[in-house]
Amino acid sequence: MSNEAKEKCTIIVPCYNEEEAIPLFYEATNEALKDFAIDYEYLFVNDGSKDKTLDVLKDLAGKDEKVHYVSFSRNFGKEAAMYAGLKESTGDYVVIMDADLQDPPELIPGMYESVINEGYDCVATRRVNRKGEPPIRSMFANIFYLLMHFIAKVDMVPGARDFRFMKRVMVDAIVEIGEYNRFSKGIFGWVGFNTKWIPFENRKRVAGKTKWSFFKLFQYSIEGIVAFSTAPLVWSSIIGLIFCVLAFIALIFLFVRALIFGDPVSGWPSLACMITFFAGLQLFSVGIIGMYISKTYLEVKGRPIYIVKEKK
Ligand code: UDP
Ligand code: MG
Repeated sequence: MSNEAKEKCTIIVPCYNEEEAIPLFYEATNEALKDFAIDYEYLFVNDGSKDKTLDVLKDLAGKDEKVHYVSFSRNFGKEAAMYAGLKESTGDYVVIMDADLQDPPELIPGMYESVINEGYDCVATRRVNRKGEPPIRSMFANIFYLLMHFIAKVDMVPGARDFRFMKRVMVDAIVEIGEYNRFSKGIFGWVGFNTKWIPFENRKRVAGKTKWSFFKLFQYSIEGIVAFSTAPLVWSSIIGLIFCVLAFIALIFLFVRALIFGDPVSGWPSLACMITFFAGLQLFSVGIIGMYISKTYLEVKGRPIYIVKEKK
C-alpha cells in the first residue's frame, strides 16, 4: 500500500489557443481527482498558441507545483503535442486529454481501477454518439472508419478519442515510434497491449472553439490512410492491369472487325471520352504514388517532430 502511494500519473494536455478553457479544465480535473488513489501531475503542451495560453500556464505553474508545461516554438499540430507530452512525461501512468473538457476527467479514477484490478495495460475511450456535430462531418467520419477497417491492418475503433489511460510500458513503446507523419489513433492500435474500451456521451467544449476545420480533418484522414496502409498503391496497380487486359481484348476485337467489315471512320466521341477517362485514371494513380513519395520524403529528412522553446 505504501508503495502504491508513490506511483504517479501524468496528465498530458495539448493546448492550442485554449486560454479560456485551461482554468476551467484545471478546476474540473482537480475536483474529479480529489480522492484519486495515486499522485498526479499536469503536463500542458502549449502548441504555439497565439493567445495568452502560455501566460495562463505560467500562472498556474507558479501557484501549483503539480503543473508543468512544455511550450513549442510554433504550432506543430496536436499529433506533435501528444508526442512531446508522452516523451517528456515521467509518470508510471499517463493520461492524454483535450483541454476543452470534452473528455470527462471523472472517468480517470475508474480507468486506473481497470488497469490495476482487471489487468489492462490501457483504457481508451470512444464517443457513442456525435450529438452536436454537423451530419455531413459524421458521415465522412463513418466512411473513414469503414475504409480504415478494410484497408489498414490495425485495430481502429469508430468514434475513438485520443483520451486514454496508459501504463508506462505502452507509453515507452509509443515514444519509440519516432515517425514524422504521426497518426496516433493508428499507432495506439499498432503497438498492441490489452486495451479496454469505455464508451461515453459526446460533450460540447466548455470554451473557445474547435481547431479542426472540415478540410483539416479530411487531410488528417488521408494522412491516416497513407500512414497505415499501402492498399491504395495495390489498387491503382490492379485497376491499371484490368484496363490493360480490357484494352488488349478490345484491340483484337477491333482488328478482327476491321478485317471483316473494313474500317469506317466513326465513333470519335466515344474515343474522346475514353481518352479523358484514362487520362484521369492515370493522373489519379500518379497522385496516389505521389502521396506516398511525399510522405517518404518528409520521413527521410528526419526533422524533429517538435521544437521546445521553454518548459517547466
Ligand atoms: N490542439 C493542439 N494543436 C492543434 C490543434 C488542436 O494542441 O494544432 C489541441 C486543442 O487545444 C485541444 C485538442 O487538441 O486540447 C483537441 O482540439 P479541438 O477540441 O479543437 O478538437 P475537436 O474536439 O473539435 O475535435
Ligand atoms: Mg475538442
